[in-house]
Amino acid sequence: MLTSLLIANRGEIACRIIRTARRLGIRTVAVYSDADADALHVRHADEAVHIGPSPARESYLVGDRIIAAARASGAEAIHPGYGFLSENAGFAQAVIDAGLIWVGPDPASITAMGLKDAAKKLMQDAGVPTTPGYLGDDQSDARLQAEADAIGYPVLIKAVAGGGGKGMRRVDGAADFADALLSCRREAAASFGDDRVLIEKYILSPRHIEVQVFGDRQGNVVHLFERDCSLQRRHQKVIEEAPAPGMDAETREAICAAAVRAAKAVDYVGAGTIEFIADASAGLRADRIWFMEMNTRLQVEHPVTEEITGVDLVEWQLRVASGEPLPMRQEDLAINGHAVEVRLYAEDPIRGFLPSVGVLELLDLPGAPIRVETGVAEGDGISSFYDPMIAKLIAHAPDRAAAIGRLADGVEWTRLWPVASNAGFLFRALRHPAFLAGDVTTAFIADHQDALLPSPVPDAGGWKLAALGLIGDYEDGLGALLDGPAPWTAIEGFRLNQPRRSAIALSCGGETRVIDVWQGGEVGGASQRVGDDLVLVEGGQTYGFRLARFDGTGGGGASDGAILSPMPGRIVSVDVAEGQAVAKGQKLLVLEAMKMEQALIAPFDGIVADLKAVAGAQVAEGITLARVEKDAKAE
Ligand code: ADP
Ligand code: ADP
Ligand code: MG
Repeated sequence: MLTSLLIANRGEIACRIIRTARRLGIRTVAVYSDADADALHVRHADEAVHIGPSPARESYLVGDRIIAAARASGAEAIHPGYGFLSENAGFAQAVIDAGLIWVGPDPASITAMGLKDAAKKLMQDAGVPTTPGYLGDDQSDARLQAEADAIGYPVLIKAVAGGGGKGMRRVDGAADFADALLSCRREAAASFGDDRVLIEKYILSPRHIEVQVFGDRQGNVVHLFERDCSLQRRHQKVIEEAPAPGMDAETREAICAAAVRAAKAVDYVGAGTIEFIADASAGLRADRIWFMEMNTRLQVEHPVTEEITGVDLVEWQLRVASGEPLPMRQEDLAINGHAVEVRLYAEDPIRGFLPSVGVLELLDLPGAPIRVETGVAEGDGISSFYDPMIAKLIAHAPDRAAAIGRLADGVEWTRLWPVASNAGFLFRALRHPAFLAGDVTTAFIADHQDALLPSPVPDAGGWKLAALGLIGDYEDGLGALLDGPAPWTAIEGFRLNQPRRSAIALSCGGETRVIDVWQGGEVGGASQRVGDDLVLVEGGQTYGFRLARFDGTGGGGASDGAILSPMPGRIVSVDVAEGQAVAKGQKLLVLEAMKMEQALIAPFDGIVADLKAVAGAQVAEGITLARVEKDAKAE
């Protein structure tokens, strides 16, 4: 067995590899960029070497620096993880040339599978069914168009050097082909430095089914069954599971045998994945599943295979790299139960899946029985330099329904703040009837988008809970940090043994509401303060609340009753009329500023005077919009 290992990666996969290496008594060496100086993988490793500035191009993708780090730290072997240099045959060769052990397949196997067209030709020769299409060397526009016409639309144009869901264009008719080809080539040249493309029949009702394979230096190759990764957004996997729902024994036998044939065709050593695309319009059938590509590395979603087989795939990688034979034979491997994984990303589904960066001031991930693979802890930052994956959450149970239910329970209480995440979206996907029925194609997310998007604001119970939380914080003394009087209005005074009724203005998700609550009344759930925000989670979605700014505590002060615009903005609504009697805390008008709505409310009981605000008008900061005059009769 190896005695020391450098992990040429970061984040969750570096932490994952370190865990197994440590269990096997192997000394671990991390590498890190400037941005990762305090990262979890650095904290977990026995030692760590700085390899350059934050951009991956200047650190994690610089092979020479990584090899130099291995030399400097005396590491015996290099594990590339996934992404970065893991499928770079030149780097693998350089590692070997430096006298180090490469934890992966031979560079020749990586090269053979590196380009999608060459890989497909190789598979055709090995008798593995491939997606129908054109792989030719003639890359002229006219020839590609003619081939697409002959295949029949829809077709998919793919960069031969593509990866990570990039460099692909679906074309639905001949008229759209030329434009799609142009933009696909442009993206391929920019992302992969190679603008060659292939054309495939676009499979309808597509399901992504892949088979985990493993080879050793003794010439053994086994498979560890299939995974279903059909739940994708923009060709990127979001939820993965094993085994594939609806897979019968005959079809499984056929694709697993094809996968082993594919691996043997390139003398495969180590962990690899053969990806297939299935036409699931009539269920999974052996004659409707085609080879798509091979990934010559450990896959992001490998934990679901580990859960159903009981195998530690990283341990197998390290044993095989040490020269040991595979620890198990094919006939010893079996499927036990069902496993599901979700990828928790720092992105905001409500804002078009915009990536979210910042410090994870709150990070509350589920515990057992959920398996958590992460590269961050509370207090760490999510930077814009790398992949926005925060964690993978995995559940294993005797059957699919139980595994999904268990995972949904874990996702439901996942909280993080102020970084946005897709947890609420994942929770909805896991609870969607079509997903539960196993009725999933790669179009699932697009088809059910509306049902999967969480609401930008919580339900009424959430608002009440937040209102009580904010009042509670105030009474606990935190309110001393706020200027001015108590930020709520007592509607009914305190009476012995009676709940107290108050109104408080809050904002959340760009909306401001005045909430009427009975203090002392029962509301379920828990809220928590994080910095200036009060946060609570509902269906996996974390919501943050703030006290809505009362006018009066801002510019003009409450005392004279002037209602000033606290910042430049637009008046959304005017809710009162000139001369109207208003109660303290009553909403007067709503201003939209910095994409947030703010209710301006009456600072005390009185009569509305000088009402200048008009719905729809733009106003500058500090403008008097209205005035509340003390009601003389009431005094
Ligand atoms: P996997 O196939 O292991 O499940 P993905 O399909 O999500 O993982 O991504 C494939 C690999 O490509 C991953 O290793 C990921 O780090 C990497 N990757 C992700 N985005 C890109 C990109 N834009 N360009 C190149 N590679 C990428
Ligand atoms: P990458 O290298 O980016 O992972 P793949 O060839 O594996 O590229 O394709 C990525 C995804 O695109 C697949 O998981 C599948 O969802 C979709 N896809 C690929 N080929 C086809 C096809 N011929 N028909 C329909 N969908 C496809
Ligand atoms: Mg792929």
